[in-house]
Amino acid sequence: MARERTAYHCDQCGFVVPKWVGRCPDCKAWGSVVEAGPTATRKVPAGPVSAPALPIAQVEVEAARARPTGVAELDRVLGSGLVPGAVILLAGEPGVGKSTLLLEVAQSYASSGTGRALVVTGEESTAQVRLRAERTGALSEKPLPGGRDRTDRGAGPPRRRLSRGC
Ligand SMILES: [Zn+2]
Repeated sequence: MARERTAYHCDQCGFVVPKWVGRCPDCKAWGSVVEAGPTATRKVPAGPVSAPALPIAQVEVEAARARPTGVAELDRVLGSGLVPGAVILLAGEPGVGKSTLLLEVAQSYASSGTGRALVVTGEESTAQVRLRAERTGALSEKPLPGGRDRTDRGAGPPRRRLSRGC
């Protein structure tokens, strides 16, 4: 059932506020806010039920469990690792090691046998990614560097996006 709410507006500037205030937030006039009468509220129908309600103890949790990255400090910051489907923004000043860290994570993940890792970058070529991997000891056959030149040739569908433009 729609509930009627009272709206208020400023006599000086017309600014509408949901509840009475002593001073207009817009024109800063004191005592100018007056009741404007009831406003209609709109009914919004509930969407379809996507899953039946379950007791919380019966909810499946495996899909939401964090998987360790293999980099202990990163796992600590992320609260045990990466959660499938989660998006994590890794930010930092240029040169602090974001790409190197993600390459290490990709190498660790791919080497764990859990799955494959795809490193996607918009700034570095695949050759630069390989040089970085050689420098950091992350060179392996498992992580697939997926720069523009690589993906244009059809590197295959990415299983995981671990890095982009860092
Ligand atoms: Zn006003």
